[in-house]
Amino acid sequence: MLPQSTASVAPPHSHAPWLPSAALGIVAALIAALGCRQIATVPAWNAALLETAALTAPMPWSTSEGLPDRTVIQAGQLVIHADFPLAGQHRLIRDLETLRADVSQQLALPISDEPVHLYLFEEPARYDAFAARQFPNFPVRRAFFVETDTTLSVFAAWQDRIAEDLRHETTHGYVHAVVPTLPLWLDEGIAEYFELPRGAQGVHREHVAHIAGRLLEGTCRIDMERLESLQSAGELSQDHYAEAWCWVHWLLHTTPARRRVLQDYLTDLRRDGQTAPLSARLAHYEGPPATCAAAVRAHVEALSAADD
Ligand SMILES: [Zn+2]
Repeated sequence: MLPQSTASVAPPHSHAPWLPSAALGIVAALIAALGCRQIATVPAWNAALLETAALTAPMPWSTSEGLPDRTVIQAGQLVIHADFPLAGQHRLIRDLETLRADVSQQLALPISDEPVHLYLFEEPARYDAFAARQFPNFPVRRAFFVETDTTLSVFAAWQDRIAEDLRHETTHGYVHAVVPTLPLWLDEGIAEYFELPRGAQGVHREHVAHIAGRLLEGTCRIDMERLESLQSAGELSQDHYAEAWCWVHWLLHTTPARRRVLQDYLTDLRRDGQTAPLSARLAHYEGPPATCAAAVRAHVEALSAADD
């Protein structure tokens, strides 16, 4: 069970980049208000690696050494700090700038000028040491996003999957710059969707295969209300991430009306964080939850069949 926080915490939103074998016995620290830490113990079977935290305290790392500062590049909304020479025209940076427009267009969200700071460590050992020092209770992971009252920051080690990791974490930054509070599951579903290279059309093969496997087993559960009930990153399993991605893909890639439901929901969330949940809106347009779930299941089956 997750311990209850006694502090008034900003809702923790978190993510699991898929490191298939890496996440046994994780203890995730979700930093809460005023430096308090809310600790969530993740079961050993949970393959999720948490990499996002909501902070309401000032940047705890602001006076600390160890932040990359050799190269600083402004790229649109991004301020990239690297501890190695990094060309301003690096393909990865252009990719992240394009992502800003993609997120805005697909989700019908305005573009913000609020800076998103990316801290890139060339040596994984330096990144690990920094993360261990500044976020001692965080699980080991390749990248993570941290939101405070005043800053949006991404920390990452420069490694083989850096492009995917930065697309995922930077998506959190772009979205949170304009929608500061959104449901945990949707936050991750959107980031999983946009972490893919542009040509992938948002089709996350790992998630498709995972859900297809669950369908074969007869253990697949598609239930947005269940996702909406998740309050803590520690509750998120690979099933949840795969399903969250699947809902986002279904909403964006099946009919204009469904795309509009998601876009309208995000627009309303910007104005009122307590607006009616997405599941209730979908029920209005699509009918009972079971009908909606069947449509999502059919969608992922079609994607899976296309892979065969
Ligand atoms: Zn995430």
